[in-house]
Amino acid sequence: MSETAPRAGAAALTTELRDDVVIIWIDVPGEPVNTLTPSMVGEFEQVFDDIEKDPAIKGIVIASAKPAGFIAGADVEQFAKFTSAHDASQVSALGQEVLNRLEKLPAPTVAAIHGACLGGGLETALACRYRVATNHASTVLALPEVQLGVIPGMGGTQRLPQLVGLQAALDMILSGRNIRAVKALKMGLVDEVVHPAILIDIAVDRARGLSEGRIKSTRRSSGASDILLAGNPIGRSVVFRKARESVIEKTHGHYPAPLAALDAIRAGYDRGFKSGLNMEAKLFGELAVGEVSRQLVYLFFARNATRKDPGVAGEAPEARSVRKLGILGAGFMGAGIASIAVQEGTLVRIKDTEPKRVAAGLRSVRDVLRERLVRKQITRLEYEDMLVMVGGTTDYSGFASADIVIEAVFEDLKVKQTVLREAEAMLDPEAVYASNTSTIPIGRIADAAERPERVLGMHFFSPVHKMPLLEVIVTPKTSAAATVTAVAYGKEVGKTVIVVNDGPGFYTTRILSAYMNEAGRLLDEGAAIEAIDKALVDFGFPVGPITLLDEVGIDIGGHVGRTMTESFGARMAPSDAMRKVVEAGRTGRKGKSGFYKYDEKGDKGAVDEAVYGIIGKEHRAEVPANEITERCVFAMVNEAVLCLEEGILRTARDGDIGAVFGLGFPPFRGGPFRYIDTVGADTIVSRLEELHARFSNRFSPARLLVEHARARKRFHPGR
Ligand code: NAD
Repeated sequence: MSETAPRAGAAALTTELRDDVVIIWIDVPGEPVNTLTPSMVGEFEQVFDDIEKDPAIKGIVIASAKPAGFIAGADVEQFAKFTSAHDASQVSALGQEVLNRLEKLPAPTVAAIHGACLGGGLETALACRYRVATNHASTVLALPEVQLGVIPGMGGTQRLPQLVGLQAALDMILSGRNIRAVKALKMGLVDEVVHPAILIDIAVDRARGLSEGRIKSTRRSSGASDILLAGNPIGRSVVFRKARESVIEKTHGHYPAPLAALDAIRAGYDRGFKSGLNMEAKLFGELAVGEVSRQLVYLFFARNATRKDPGVAGEAPEARSVRKLGILGAGFMGAGIASIAVQEGTLVRIKDTEPKRVAAGLRSVRDVLRERLVRKQITRLEYEDMLVMVGGTTDYSGFASADIVIEAVFEDLKVKQTVLREAEAMLDPEAVYASNTSTIPIGRIADAAERPERVLGMHFFSPVHKMPLLEVIVTPKTSAAATVTAVAYGKEVGKTVIVVNDGPGFYTTRILSAYMNEAGRLLDEGAAIEAIDKALVDFGFPVGPITLLDEVGIDIGGHVGRTMTESFGARMAPSDAMRKVVEAGRTGRKGKSGFYKYDEKGDKGAVDEAVYGIIGKEHRAEVPANEITERCVFAMVNEAVLCLEEGILRTARDGDIGAVFGLGFPPFRGGPFRYIDTVGADTIVSRLEELHARFSNRFSPARLLVEHARARKRFHPGR
């Protein structure tokens, strides 16, 4: 065969001959990363035809010509184009055929993997005879399809278990998690790990070596337990049953994809590869046009859109590059923020009032980093480098050169204003000053500022190193330059960022308050603690509202309640039950005294019945689960619409992202606004009106919601 030069504009595949080995280069034109689309099928077939016709070819290498990544998966844009389950199944079957052909090519195939090798990318590599991966930090392998509500659709459910064994394959396919190169080598997912500089040379050599019989591909290295369990039908049944039970326990039956993946894998074991592929394509098709995938794909795009959003409308000024971060308050949040900043290479100076508090904060930073070290996510050298990036102080020394200062002192307006005045006098006039307050309007804090245009809110969530959201809050005085700097830095430290306008509780705390207060009122009426939590976990929240309050801190809930009542009056006043438990001094898990019992290690136990004595409701009243769910969820989504109506939110998209990634609103429902669209604004308005008639002051439907109901309009007109 002859080499093909890149054809202007169109081709994603080109070939290069290295003596008797052909390299198939993948380079999707005009895109930063390679993704697979049905339009590439013809190109693959053409290349395979050429290879099959040429007996001189002894080996084949598949590699990416992109600097960033091998193949990042199927092009998710395609999902929106499926018109029926049949249509989507056909696309899956087409992909399977291409990879079947790749697998059967007359010469041995080697995948040369550098960077992201995800979904269809990994399925392509699985159809090769041999896999070489680079030891670069960006090299990760995964089948993340379940995260988009579907299953691998190009043979992944069949080839992965054959390669790495049933248990390891289930772990990868059901979680979708990333596997790094060294782990991939250990589990037999790749055959070799090399330095990026020699990847292609090694891959070419291995292709030739396989052809000459010099080397052998190491098919799977399953352990004894896998052979015992997966190798016989009874053992396999046990594995599948256990996996099913664990999926149902984790997902409460809300996510069909992991269960479908189990069915597809099982079909392959029970009835052979071909049947397995057929089942895979059929289930892929059904899931791809299903409701859960529709919502998860929406969130995928919504999240991507926030990544490209500078945070201001119109022409965005350049963001200030952040080399140094000052943090005020070395408590729980201050230390958390420091721990993610140093991981991105930012110098951090952290101030508290007393040396022992500074020391405690630095210890917390170290604990977060140590956990990463123990989990082998960073090397010892990186760990030590990160530790020297953070320094502590009890004065403002070192703050003059900070690009951003984040204040995370006590939730008290006076303290926050005092700290702002002190800090401002020491800072570079161009530095951004951010408060991490969770409720106090930024404008009120900024009233104390000389330079209110540099003041905004950067609301991180706890624990900072785990929670994906950052809510940036801007006042009418905040400059665009300050906003874009805060947004860009939030993205740099790995957060999904939404920008909201100022107001009490901004967006997330405000809608959470509406939801938590309703849970509290149900307690006032005598509903059981575990019944309330169960109803909302069944709806899809990761934990129920009462457990959440124990986690966040009942005292913190009390603070929030006071600020929200000051601003919104009785509508947002905390329930009697909550007030009494706050007054009783219970703080939740951190004080090992909350609504639930906690053991020495802080692990949660049963409901602490003594709480009912504090609330004064020893006699429980039965409240139906659907009433609990409706009241809490409708209070939340109605408040979300009020935030959009009042301009706190810029878009419904931000409202969905904020609730899902900040508060754990069920992803399979897409967020509050997608949920309203699904249920129907008219249905929600009529239920709200009924609730309003029963509980006079707090369920009055938002004007914008009523408008949507009347006009039968959706917040998201698209798919
Ligand atoms: P915390 O009590 O753990 O820490 C506050 C720290 O600020 C303490 O170490 C205290 O000594 C220090 N401090 C007080 N006055 C100071 C001053 N003048 N100069 C320097 N340091 C001073 O509190 P936290 O939970 O970290 O909360 C901090 C802020 O973050 C609050 O505004 C809170 O509302 C907000 N927040 C908290 C959470 C959460 O879940 N804990 C979540 C989001 C936002």
